[in-house]
Amino acid sequence: MTTTNAALFERAQRVIPGGVNSPVRAFRAVGGTPRFIARAQGAYLWDAEGQRYIDYIGSWGPMILGHGHPAVLEAVTKAAADGLSFGAPTEREIELAEAISALVPGLEQVRLVSSGTEAAMSAIRLARGATGRSRMIKFEGCYHGHADALLVKAGSGLATFGNPTSAGVPPEVVQHTIVLPYNDVSALEAAFAEHGPHLACVMVEPIAGNMNFVRASVPFMTRLRALCSAHGALLVFDEVMSGFRVALGGAQSVYARLIPGFRPDMSVFGKVIGGGMPLAAFGGSRDVMAHLAPLGPVYQAGTLSGNPVATACGLATLREIAKPGFFEALTAKTQSLVEGIVAAGRSAGIPMCGDSEGGMFGFFFHQNLPQDYPTVMTTDKERFNRFFHGMLERGVYLAPALYEAGFVSAAHTTEDLAATHQAAREALAGLAG
Ligand SMILES: *Cc1c(COP(=O)(O)O)cnc(C)c1O
Repeated sequence: MTTTNAALFERAQRVIPGGVNSPVRAFRAVGGTPRFIARAQGAYLWDAEGQRYIDYIGSWGPMILGHGHPAVLEAVTKAAADGLSFGAPTEREIELAEAISALVPGLEQVRLVSSGTEAAMSAIRLARGATGRSRMIKFEGCYHGHADALLVKAGSGLATFGNPTSAGVPPEVVQHTIVLPYNDVSALEAAFAEHGPHLACVMVEPIAGNMNFVRASVPFMTRLRALCSAHGALLVFDEVMSGFRVALGGAQSVYARLIPGFRPDMSVFGKVIGGGMPLAAFGGSRDVMAHLAPLGPVYQAGTLSGNPVATACGLATLREIAKPGFFEALTAKTQSLVEGIVAAGRSAGIPMCGDSEGGMFGFFFHQNLPQDYPTVMTTDKERFNRFFHGMLERGVYLAPALYEAGFVSAAHTTEDLAATHQAAREALAGLAG
């Protein structure tokens, strides 16, 4: 060992604000020293001290095949040798757009960008440009990246015009953003009654992964779809996390199974579609997408958009996850992981519950599954933080905050799951009472 995580963290804090390039990495919610990752392979990460961890973050979702998948590495290496960036169209961008539209019904066209933030921001601009309206609804606890107009959290009660949650966002910038409680049908109806004719869109995380793991209920989603259609507002699914992660067709395929004829008007993707490279996308019907430059008046652009190496990485990843049986196996592993953790809690006398869909999961130190953000925030934070560190000490790397979802990859083995369950039993034994 030439250095320690603590030494690196100290050095990082001198030249990078908080020592990190994305806040959650700093371990502020759970305390302690972030692990500086040196390398990764399959289901494992190794930190700067040579300690190995079973990885349940997977770069916050993209690494659905595990780290260093041979087909992905080959595609990326080959693409890099052919050129890192051209700023001109390539055939691979068409292939990726075709692959995405083939997997998501109703998505006739997509535009590729470089981050989920950029995709969500552009989707809102397009929805506004296409409808000629300004207002939008988002839900408390849903994260759509850090574009100004989307950085708003709800106040309590019914529809509140947004108060920015970040400094540096002027109130005028979020005055058109209406924030509602998640899974609350009557708040939704009241907001449409008041703002209906002015609503450009409603953006939602259909299976929310930025308040741990909370599903939109079927009655809520059914009503949301009907209200959007009745008022001419576009329903925008933010599937940056859930897309190609909870099912091959994303969360929208899950709701289409439960609600006949269900389909959002626009979708936003990221994370898995880049396979670990900076790549994201937004799309919808040809009619809506025709408002986008150079066809229409809604401007959107990017120097590195559709980057040839990133598209190679995304394509190779999508090809692997589209193979028969991929999601069945991933779903079974993820269910078994969550069941084992929750069972370990229950046998230690600790109230716990959990849920999962495809390769995305959540667990709570709480009796029942929360349905909204305030309830997630009432779950036992102290216990979560001690459990997190107990697991980390035992070589299991969970998300360092109770409001984050977790991810299983195809590389996780039955032995990895068993080792995780054993670690959970040990860590939880000390947390009862
Ligand atoms: C991660 C995430 C984003 C933002 O994506 P970035 O690539 O981090 O900008 C947006 N929406 C959801 C649902 C996400 O999970």
